[in-house]
Formats: sequence, structure tokens, C-alpha cells
Amino acid sequence: MKRTRTMWAITALIPLALAGCEQSSTAVQTLNSQKTAPAALVSPTPAASPAPSAKPGAASSPDTKEQDSIGQEVGSPKEEPVIVKSSQSARVSALKPVFSVSKGTVAITIDDGPTKDTSKLLKILKELDTHVTFFFLGQNAEKYHESVSQAVYDGHVVGYHSDTHPQMTKMSYDDQLKEFKSGLDKLAKWDKNPITLFRPPYGAYNNDTKLITEDNHMSMVLWNEDTKDWSSTNAAAIAKSVLAQVQSGSIIVMHDHPSTIAALPDIIKGIKSKGYKLVTIPSK
Ligand SMILES: [Zn+2]
Repeated sequence: MKRTRTMWAITALIPLALAGCEQSSTAVQTLNSQKTAPAALVSPTPAASPAPSAKPGAASSPDTKEQDSIGQEVGSPKEEPVIVKSSQSARVSALKPVFSVSKGTVAITIDDGPTKDTSKLLKILKELDTHVTFFFLGQNAEKYHESVSQAVYDGHVVGYHSDTHPQMTKMSYDDQLKEFKSGLDKLAKWDKNPITLFRPPYGAYNNDTKLITEDNHMSMVLWNEDTKDWSSTNAAAIAKSVLAQVQSGSIIVMHDHPSTIAALPDIIKGIKSKGYKLVTIPSK
């Protein structure tokens, strides 16, 4: 009888606990919308007590529409706890994600391509004699493989951004591994150089994601400047926002969208005029 009561009490507490998770998730989102402080350039809490916001069953969260969410690397990247029982949970990854580049330099990174617009983007970059780091999706690499080959030929760095852009922290280790491998195989068909950089979608990762990244001999590359370029169709506004945030060591995350592409000439000229050297992310 006593045990039954305890069970009831636990059952009653579960919704409360879940509600708490939702609230802390909202708080994290709010924080993420604020500008990253310069002090965070060096190492913004890779493993420092992540907020308990990972919620495997939270189907009501805004990113349920995964396809619509592509292009939304929201806010500061963060490490989340492994909540789905991991077949690898006994192993702890020592991988340190990269959040910034060297002092005096700035790296432009472009996620979620290639798309139908990437050939235009590559032309603009050539005209401006600038190299960037791409984080391509496996499913898109297959569809627009000419742009993958062209990016490699033009001397850009090609990194990997998963196959279908899921939030990997909501997946088991085995499912993360499957997703990782399938897209990497597709991308590797069109880039014969070793692919050594991985950026998890939404900047969301956990110990399983890190294990998979290091087992594949890759670095995990995040960012410290989120332009939220996907939320605007106004190229001038995007350029203004990027240039207002840029600082020494910035890794800027942008997306392969028409308005971002239109903003790029002003962004590149603006960064150079501030005296920063544009670099690509060093591959191993
Ligand atoms: Zn993305």
C-alpha cells in the first residue's frame, strides 16, 4: 500500500518535472538571443553543467517541423546531457569543440548548403577573392554535387553538417551514428579530401555526438557569432547586423540563403576594413 502511494506521488511529479524542463529551455533560448560576450570567445562552457533542457519526448517544441527549421542555428551552441540510454555511455569524450579562431582573424562559415543558389555564392566569393568554410548537408551534397566539387576546386574548406539536419541530442547513440555516416558517405563522394570538420545542427551536441566526431577523426566546429541571417530577407540589415557583432576571433555562422548571399560583398568588405584577416577553419 505504501509502495503504491509512492508510485502515485512519483507519477504526479513527472509532469511537473517536464514542465520545469520546458521552462529552463525557454530561459536558455532567451539567453541565447543575447549577444555572446567577448569573454566567451575562448571557451564558452563546453562541459560546464549543461542546462537540463534536453527532452526526448518534447514533440511540442518549435523545432518539430525539422525541415522548416533548416537554417536556424539558434543562439549559442550548447552541450546537452545524454538522456537516451547510450550504448556508449561508459566512454567519455575528451573532444574540445572549437568556438573561435585566432586573434586578429575572422572566419565566415556557411551552413545548410549546397542549394540551388550556391553556384552564385561561389561566383561572388571568387570575385572578392575570399575563402570561407562550408558546412554541407549530405542530402544536399547529393542533389547539388556540382557545387560541392566547385567549392573544393575553388579552395574553400568543406566541412560536414549531418545528413538531414536533425537535433542529434534527441537521438540515441546508434541513430546519431547512422545519421552521421549516411550523410558523410554522400558528401565524401564529391570531395576526395578528408573531411575533418563537423558542425552539429543547431550547435546541439552531447557526449555521444562528441564520441562519433572523434571516432571519425574530425574536429567539432561551433561558433561565437550567430547572425540569425535566416530570419531576414533584407540584405542590408543582415550586413549591418553581422558587422555590428564581428570582433577579433569571430566564427560567424551564416546560411546559404539568397539574402545572405546578397549581403556577403558588404560583409566581406566591412570585415576587411575593420582590419581583420578572413580565414578558413583550420582542418587537421
Ligand atoms: Zn544548419
